[in-house]
Amino acid sequence: QVRLIAITIVIIITLSTPITTNTSPQPWNILSHNEFAGKLTSSSSSVESAATDFGHVTKIFPSAVLNPSSVEDITDLIKLSFDSQLSFPLAARGHGHSHRGQASAKDGVVVNMRSMVNRDRGIKVSGTGLYVDVDAAWLWIEVLNKTLELGLTPVSWTDYLYLTVGGTLSNGGISGQTFRYGPQITNVLEMDVITGKGEIATCSKDMNSDLFFAVLGGLGQFGIITRARIKLEVAPKRAKWLRFLYIDFSEFTRDQERVISKTDGVDFLEGSIMVDHGPPDNWRSTYYPPSDHLRIASMVKRHRVIYCLEVVKYYDETSQYTVNEEMEELSDSLNHVRGFMYEKDVTYMDFLNRVRTGELNLKSKGQWDVPHPWLNLFVPKTQISKFDDGVFKGIILRNNITSGPVLVYPMNRNKWNDRMSAAIPEEDVFYAVGFLRSAGFDNWEAFDQENMEILKFCEDANMGVIQYLPYHSSQEGWVRHFGPRWNIFVERKYKYDPKMILSPGQNIFQKIN
Ligand code: FAD
Repeated sequence: QVRLIAITIVIIITLSTPITTNTSPQPWNILSHNEFAGKLTSSSSSVESAATDFGHVTKIFPSAVLNPSSVEDITDLIKLSFDSQLSFPLAARGHGHSHRGQASAKDGVVVNMRSMVNRDRGIKVSGTGLYVDVDAAWLWIEVLNKTLELGLTPVSWTDYLYLTVGGTLSNGGISGQTFRYGPQITNVLEMDVITGKGEIATCSKDMNSDLFFAVLGGLGQFGIITRARIKLEVAPKRAKWLRFLYIDFSEFTRDQERVISKTDGVDFLEGSIMVDHGPPDNWRSTYYPPSDHLRIASMVKRHRVIYCLEVVKYYDETSQYTVNEEMEELSDSLNHVRGFMYEKDVTYMDFLNRVRTGELNLKSKGQWDVPHPWLNLFVPKTQISKFDDGVFKGIILRNNITSGPVLVYPMNRNKWNDRMSAAIPEEDVFYAVGFLRSAGFDNWEAFDQENMEILKFCEDANMGVIQYLPYHSSQEGWVRHFGPRWNIFVERKYKYDPKMILSPGQNIFQKIN
């Protein structure tokens, strides 16, 4: 009872504290601390690059950037803040691929995790081949390259692999494998974490389990992950990669849900919508044969919105003779528009790393470092048809500005874990919907406006939609985001980061001195 009262008091205090960012300079000067000599910098180039992220819609300047070369460097920095009368905020920055300043630390210190990467160490596959221990600063592509050398692979991925292990574990890490293998946060066995008190702890589901579950999907609020132990399996060699086009949304979602209800079927399932009359490919994927571009475009023109179901089945020498048969059977059972089925056969690596080509292409045209006002949502299964009517066929068509891929695919809730911090809808099946927009520096606000329109539509219709890679401008937004799990989120914050110094860019809590 005493604990409950304490939590309630904490929540009242937190709720009554508006999220404001302290604009006055911090009265500390960590640059004078010798232990950070050569690692802590306030050079304008470092501070400038730590102020921005992939989103390019925020610019939030830290006072300094730490380039740690060891776990101790980070521990010392956190302790310095925690022990100080006037603590300072700090944030781990993985690869800076957030879209809304989530890895920033205004007037504080950004910890550039990538400076920890040492090519000679930091990744070790277990003797049994069942898991890999990896420094959290490594990119998933680097993990994949290393494990494939031994014929092994993690099983749960993001669509894009140039993200750090620590960054995706702080969010969830989802892709077309999630329905079957769970998000990346359910494929972690153990972690080393430095808490907001500067204490380092090894945690797993059996050891310091509360910290373990807090950190997974914890938006960087409870500690900095320095090592993660990730499950491995034997890597397949190749991937049969199929796409099917639909004009009817209910047929499309019925087929998606049927496919993900089978545990031994495909290895990957995603989906997307098409509303542009131009070529059906986008920056993220070059897939369709050029000879078919025209007829796909005219189908979009006729129906205004069409849907693409995408599945992959991995195979190797032992399954190469049955995979075609299996995919044929699947294709026969689907209710796509006949004649609009496409197939590719690629290496496992080429499939997982498929977004990289698009990235390099955009970079070569100077179109990568542009504003990305993204919006990612989890939509409960029972609401997805209303979402289609109101958003895809409503807001999106009416505004006619959507630029970039729009993903829509279901996942099974039982592959997640309620003890983790990640917020997800209550229903057994929910959809990930991603508006992956690219904009110009002068027009990104129009996209953001559309994002707000979509969020308002969902809220007014009481659909129980939750943001993934969330951004909320007020604490009320966060309280709604976590719903009944908000209390435990706050309780854990006070336990592991009582001065609220970690990951201020998420805009959830305000630092306490
Ligand atoms: P950052 O942006 O650097 O950090 C993100 C948050 O995590 C910050 O709050 C930061 O403080 C915290 N953090 C970073 N490292 C650590 C650490 N070691 N310990 C504790 N906290 C830490 N996500 C998906 O789930 N699926 C996708 O398919 C997917 N595709 C993407 C494609 C592109 C092109 C981009 C740009 C992003 C994509 N994302 C996807 C989103 C991505 O997973 C998140 O933005 C992720 O946070 C990025 O990782 P990062 O290493 O850049 O993290």
